[in-house]
Amino acid sequence: MNPYLVLIVEDDQPVRNLITTTLKAHDYRYITAANGETAVIEAASHNPDMILLDLGLPDIDGIEVIQRIRSWSNVPIIVISARSEDEDKIEALDMGADDYITKPFSVGELLARLRVAQRRLSLISSAGMQESVFLNGQLMIDYAAGCAYLNQNELHLTPIEYKILCLLAQNVGKVLTHKYITKNVWGSSWENNVGTLRVFMAALRKKLQTSAQMPQYIQTHVGIGYRMQKVENEHVSNG
Ligand code: CA
Repeated sequence: MNPYLVLIVEDDQPVRNLITTTLKAHDYRYITAANGETAVIEAASHNPDMILLDLGLPDIDGIEVIQRIRSWSNVPIIVISARSEDEDKIEALDMGADDYITKPFSVGELLARLRVAQRRLSLISSAGMQESVFLNGQLMIDYAAGCAYLNQNELHLTPIEYKILCLLAQNVGKVLTHKYITKNVWGSSWENNVGTLRVFMAALRKKLQTSAQMPQYIQTHVGIGYRMQKVENEHVSNG
């Protein structure tokens, strides 16, 4: 039995049915809400492990649902939005959503997003997040020393690249918007820096991906931002 309880917030019944059928087939436990007020109540009373949240709800806005739930909980929230609602998606991520899925989506996509949230959950619950060393596949960050290593080789990063890498690592599994990253890296002057961020990200990426076989640590979300993916700990091939 899948141990995770998922709260599904969706007013569109066919979409809700698709999600519940998929979750049932994969042994997830779930509860549903067809509007925002019910979603907040269900989240508070059942303490779900993950929330799938449609942004366009009949009563209160999905963004407000995120704000309310975030006032007491860090539960992973995956927002569901239509393709035309890019702005809403970005706002939702800035408000503390973890990830997003765009309608129409496939069953495979939905399950993949849930697995990402599960990996993030296990990272949050393990003490690893508070430790002075961050490990992800072959990537290691030694926060105390202020150094990062790939395959045990020290990465030569500029201070800004290091800062970006740490920010992504501290939010591993979560999509961070351009605004979130630039604000955290450059502070108040962030607005002029989205273009600059792209340049730094390209450089950082190149340093993290020294060959085509290397796992991709940083995922680009076009028009939205970036995410550090949790990379499986693979056996390093000797041949
Ligand atoms: Ca809707």
